Amino acid sequence: MNGSATPSIVVVGAGLSGLACARALVENGHGVKVFDKARGVGGRMSTRRADDLRYDHGAQYFTARAPEFADAVKAWVAEGVVAAWPGTITTLENRATLGDDGERKGRPVERFVGVPGMSAICKHLAADLDIDLATRVAPFAREGDQWRLRSEAGDDLGVHDVVVVSAPPAQTAALLASAAPTWSARVADTPMAPCWAVMVSFEERLPVPFDGAFVHGSPLSWVARNGSKPGRPDQESWVLHGSPSWSSEHVEDAPEQAARQLLDAFWRALAPAGVAARTAAHCVAHRWRYALPTAPVPEVCLADAALGLVLCGDWCGGPRVEGAFLSGRAAAARVLELVSRESTGSPTAGLGPPTHG
Ligand SMILES: Cc1cc2nc3c(=O)[nH]c(=O)nc-3n(C[C@H](O)[C@H](O)[C@H](O)COP(=O)(O)OP(=O)(O)OC[C@H]3O[C@@H](n4cnc5c(N)ncnc54)[C@H](O)[C@@H]3O)c2cc1C
Repeated sequence: MNGSATPSIVVVGAGLSGLACARALVENGHGVKVFDKARGVGGRMSTRRADDLRYDHGAQYFTARAPEFADAVKAWVAEGVVAAWPGTITTLENRATLGDDGERKGRPVERFVGVPGMSAICKHLAADLDIDLATRVAPFAREGDQWRLRSEAGDDLGVHDVVVVSAPPAQTAALLASAAPTWSARVADTPMAPCWAVMVSFEERLPVPFDGAFVHGSPLSWVARNGSKPGRPDQESWVLHGSPSWSSEHVEDAPEQAARQLLDAFWRALAPAGVAARTAAHCVAHRWRYALPTAPVPEVCLADAALGLVLCGDWCGGPRVEGAFLSGRAAAARVLELVSRESTGSPTAGLGPPTHG
């Protein structure tokens, strides 16, 4: 670090983990700069717009198990950013439709979603943060004991004492390749499965007795009626997710090809219920190359105090929305420890309860 009283802290990635980290640091009195390559915040919790249609094409819903996350969800519900999704969820398997998936496994599942779209949670966390969007950070360089950041477009993004990287592992490894090769090599092989997501809408309601379904024995793994989630426009819009194995096999397919095959699989899955194929009013596919971690590293975040480097994301500790949030919060605690050690020689007591804006 440069020894100045106010350490310069940067977070790369404005998905849930990066924003949970940045928000916690700001709540603890630190200035933080956030960069994301996308045009909006949210990462894999984004909501896609197409004219007046809306689709949650990444994360579909989430559950809350850890008390720290459950508290945050409770606060978001009170603020109107999150609501429970009481939709009927089933399993389409071997041509038979079973009961509600949570009930079938003998435990009721409380599912939550962002309102009016999944991205609402990240937008809420991002409020008032200093975020530069549409800024793809290039591989880092070291300058003395600091980090020199530049954008892929060649813009100087400054020198910083502490960098938090919240991107998926392959992207994190690329950023660290020359400035921190040992860390780059360590995270590079953390596996992520891809997922093709199809966003399709129809003029009329499909006569199916469920709002979401896990699909087995199919190129699909999940289908959901997006409009059944709270706060969404009343549209017959569906999100279809390809299974990890199908998406891996077809990862280089053209989007139109992936959309056609997964829509065909949708009609095959619905045929036993007597639902015939019909013309889509709108249909596009999006490839998530790094969708879901299949073997997260055991640590909830990774930190190198000597370098001023902290890594977080759903690939640390636990996958999915809850894991991303907890990893981002843990990363913030590590940063606080690090900057306090630097200024006082002793670690801080850690984070207070989340307040989120
Ligand atoms: C199809 C799909 C379905 C899912 N379904 C569910 C579900 O139902 N329930 C659930 O709990 N979870 C689900 N998940 C997982 C959930 O979305 C993730 O666990 C969570 O959103 C991960 O957040 P994150 O912050 O770790 O990463 P991300 O959201 O991926 O954020 C990383 C950010 O880093 C940015 N970035 C990367 N490289 C750079 C760079 N060089 N410069 C600048 N920015 C960069 C990216 O643009 C991105 O915004 C799903 C994910 C997908 C893709």
